[in-house]
Amino acid sequence: MEYINVALDGPAGAGKSSIAKSLAEELGYIYIDTGAMYRSIAVYAIESGIDIKNQRNLLINSLDNINVDIKYKDGTQHIFLNGNDVSERIREADATKGSSDVAVIPEVRLKLVALQRSLAAGANVIMDGRDIATHVLPDAQVKIYLTASVEERAARRLRQMRERGTDGDIKSVEEDIRLRDKQDSEREFAPLRRAEDAVLLDTSDMNFEESVAAVKKIILEKTGELDHVL
Ligand code: C5P
Repeated sequence: MEYINVALDGPAGAGKSSIAKSLAEELGYIYIDTGAMYRSIAVYAIESGIDIKNQRNLLINSLDNINVDIKYKDGTQHIFLNGNDVSERIREADATKGSSDVAVIPEVRLKLVALQRSLAAGANVIMDGRDIATHVLPDAQVKIYLTASVEERAARRLRQMRERGTDGDIKSVEEDIRLRDKQDSEREFAPLRRAEDAVLLDTSDMNFEESVAAVKKIILEKTGELDHVL
């Protein structure tokens, strides 16, 4: 019997994490948020005073001192950076911007990809990110590329920020998304790209419940025939 790996990729703010979280709970899968890992490396750099763009080698040489770990408390994923819970810290604006900057560094990616693969090897997982289907889990049984218009993604991201108690304006959220999409798609190593065998799902005209239902349908269709661990 095999474990099911669901790869959920797409640009910033497409709703991947909310959908993955909700379905992981419903289907009994483990949810793995790989963006949180890149964000944690950014937090390490920021708090160590490392200028990510201009001191890349310093960050690379520090990688062995960085321990990123995922633990689950009451079904919620918490991310630990060298033993400290940084689940809230990684959502701040500097970590968001920095995540895309650290993500272009191949050494950072290799370190995190090893962690991601080891987590996926021993459980049914829904893993969200940018390069899951193309690079991290190319043999995933289910591959979905989730997207929506940039305006809709920005509006959703702003709503999410406000729910968390942070404010922002739509123009700067949209600008941040455009910038990260560009950097994520243009980087050389494992860029954001739809895998040829991934199902494309555009949720611009769907609400959250409809998006969850659409992703669930794809997962059940793809896994229905498989003899897998429940
Ligand atoms: O998904 P999230 O917005 O939390 O990701 C933060 C950043 O981490 C992205 O903008 C991207 O640069 C990077 N990332 C990545 N590969 C992944 C997940 C995230 O490069 N698998």
